[in-house]
Amino acid sequence: MEKSLNNPVFHAIRDICEEMGYPAFVIGGFVRDLYLNRPSKDIDVVVVGSGIDVADRVAKKLGGLRLTVFKNFGTAMLRYRDLEVEFVGARKESYQRNSRKPLVEDGTLEDDQNRRDFTINALALSLNKSNYGELVDPFNGINDMEKGIIRTPLEPKITFSDDPLRMMRAIRFATQLKFRIDEATFEGIKSQKDRIEIVSGERVADELNKIVMADKPSIGFKLLELTGLLEIIFPELQAMKGVDKVEGRAHKDNFYHTLEVLDRIVPNTDNLWLRWSAILHDIAKPRTKRYDKKTGWTFHNHNFIGQKMIPKIFGRMKLPLNEKMKYVQKMVGLHMRPIVLSEDVVTDSAVRRLLFEAGDDIDDLMTLCEADITSKNESKVKRYMRNFKVVRQKLKEIEEKDHVRNFQPPVTGEVIMKTFGLQPCKEIGDIKAIIKEAILDGEIGNNYDEAYALMLKKGEEMGLKRKI
Ligand code: ATP
Repeated sequence: MEKSLNNPVFHAIRDICEEMGYPAFVIGGFVRDLYLNRPSKDIDVVVVGSGIDVADRVAKKLGGLRLTVFKNFGTAMLRYRDLEVEFVGARKESYQRNSRKPLVEDGTLEDDQNRRDFTINALALSLNKSNYGELVDPFNGINDMEKGIIRTPLEPKITFSDDPLRMMRAIRFATQLKFRIDEATFEGIKSQKDRIEIVSGERVADELNKIVMADKPSIGFKLLELTGLLEIIFPELQAMKGVDKVEGRAHKDNFYHTLEVLDRIVPNTDNLWLRWSAILHDIAKPRTKRYDKKTGWTFHNHNFIGQKMIPKIFGRMKLPLNEKMKYVQKMVGLHMRPIVLSEDVVTDSAVRRLLFEAGDDIDDLMTLCEADITSKNESKVKRYMRNFKVVRQKLKEIEEKDHVRNFQPPVTGEVIMKTFGLQPCKEIGDIKAIIKEAILDGEIGNNYDEAYALMLKKGEEMGLKRKI
């Protein structure tokens, strides 16, 4: 471990702390990630004494680095090369029932380790001259690391009741690291799940997004479901779990299907919002589910209804209500289209319409649809994938030919007004719509001349008089 502390910033801390007589330790995520071989750029340093004073002198020693001080929190932060180093005095925390904010007082290293969320996050490495690099591991976090276990250092119920965000963090770490949550810790989460209500939506969303960005997000969502947290933070997803059976016919479990789609899309995208689209693509299935004697289970319009459900879900979960949300809505709304397309003869006009509606997001939509094919029937999967290839090829050809991806009407409202001497009126919109439809149907090309000719023809039919 000593080798990992070779960076000049650690040497500077060692020397300053020696001079000042303060013990100092690097602690938490950085140490954990060192053992896991996941290089980390965030360094937390605990000083048994004034963290701010040490930080100040370290910043000077390293050539006058800029120091950001948060007096209220008793912390200070500096950047050294690509590292971000935060200094804090060792503290002892005690919690009150209705807040995540603890009462804080100065404490020992042990106190500071006691307030950490998990044994693997409580590891500390000494930065002191006498035992530089020595591990201080009071809860046997190394053992948990080797076995891949998430465990709270103290009584789980109290740990989670004190700060319920830790429940989300436990599941997030289990997902990111592919660790198992220790049984007592797991039971602790189950018993304290309702306390999640005192955590701000933003913080829950941060953790959820980290789960979504993991290599196998289904791990996290399954844990959320098993602990009972999902029901509270994301009831719409919880509602997808389970199957109904009528006359011996069952539909698939949409919760597990969704998780499969999510895992399947991971290797193909780092776009958080495309991953959210995978989570939400079938969100309206429980609401639209019907049983029909002839056709069996149907989910009519689940794409459109799902699209409409998204603002409420995003609002409650404190996800952004901006163009990111609109993108997810668009994906959910369109997610059935490529499959319908591929089941049929792929006509130019159907492809043109899809291109027009998806615009630049067409590739993302295809990625979503490909992930959506989760059938156990291999020949079916192969057939769909082959068809999607055809659709992708066709999309490319049509786009090269017709350029409708970012459709701009080739004849503007202004031209229509001038040509027929019109004030703003309904007819202008009608003519524009006719031109757009004609282009999408392939009746005319996407160019000025053909659109202009059609405008003249339609205007005449409407009884408009040409003025120029
Ligand atoms: P990551 O960088 O992946 O988020 P991290 O563990 O470094 O992981 P931080 O949120 O930066 O996460 O926290 C740093 C350290 O602070 C943790 O390793 C843990 O020891 C402690 N910590 C953070 N949040 C809590 C909490 N809610 N309760 C107890 N300890 C916490």
